[in-house]
Amino acid sequence: MLTSIKGKSVIVTGGSKGIGRGIAEVFARQGARVMIAARGEQAAKIAADQLNAQGCDVHHTTCDVSDWDSVQKMVESTAVAFGGVDVLCANAGAFPQTKMVEMDPAEWDQVMGTNLRSAFLTVKACIPHFEKAGKGRVILTSSITGPITGFPGWAHYGASKAGQLGFMRTACMELARYNTTINAVMPGNIYTEGLQDLGQEYLDTMAASIPLKRLGAVADIGNAALFFASDEAAYITGQQIVVDGGQTIPESLEAIESI
Ligand code: NAP
Repeated sequence: MLTSIKGKSVIVTGGSKGIGRGIAEVFARQGARVMIAARGEQAAKIAADQLNAQGCDVHHTTCDVSDWDSVQKMVESTAVAFGGVDVLCANAGAFPQTKMVEMDPAEWDQVMGTNLRSAFLTVKACIPHFEKAGKGRVILTSSITGPITGFPGWAHYGASKAGQLGFMRTACMELARYNTTINAVMPGNIYTEGLQDLGQEYLDTMAASIPLKRLGAVADIGNAALFFASDEAAYITGQQIVVDGGQTIPESLEAIESI
């Protein structure tokens, strides 16, 4: 049983859909006050309304996590609404699949902006609030793709997700003076709207390559994030946890086919 997170102010970027929606639900059901931030107003509102209908305390705001002004406004409006910021779940991300020969350099920059620059911007904007509170928590949604594995079409994505971990290791030292920890969850293949866009064949092939023989649920990532945000995780910083149903473990095709 983890110490209560009730009443804590939690930002979840990309909280309108998929993993972010799952993180928002896990935290909100535990009594946290959650700010869902995404570019699309409608989906963010629907997600907040659905959770509030279940008795949760969820707000929503529009934000482009790759834009400094937008991030500052989002963090400030959260601090005003909830009286501070306790936890940042930097989750928003994009994963267009394009092989390098076809990739426009602008797409590389866009993926880096959404997935990596955003980690820096959102953490930077939250620092004054962590300093004021004398504590804080950051949880990054990285990936197995990049830090551990590779996949054709995801050179930019893999680089951005590995980059998040590089960012985290220095950020963990700079944030320590504010009694703030930063850790990363590395999802395998989690069943989300974004993953569905990759097609049924992708989903089936992936499920077959996972020892637990199924894709992950968004709550699996939310629960790992909740642990990092708990008092019990206070001495863990600069670390990452893989949540992938064992996907990165098999040494060969034979190993996965034999189970
Ligand atoms: P998703 O279903 O496509 O949802 C992405 C969320 O991010 C949406 O809320 C989207 O809302 C928001 N978003 C995208 N670009 C944004 C921007 N520039 N500013 C603010 N919000 C933005 O994706 P997902 O599958 O849940 O993935 C979420 C995170 O998990 C990503 O970082 C992804 O890399 C990571 N991940 C996912 C998997 C997986 O299997 N699903 C595996 C490993 C890692 P708007 O479009 O309205 O802005």
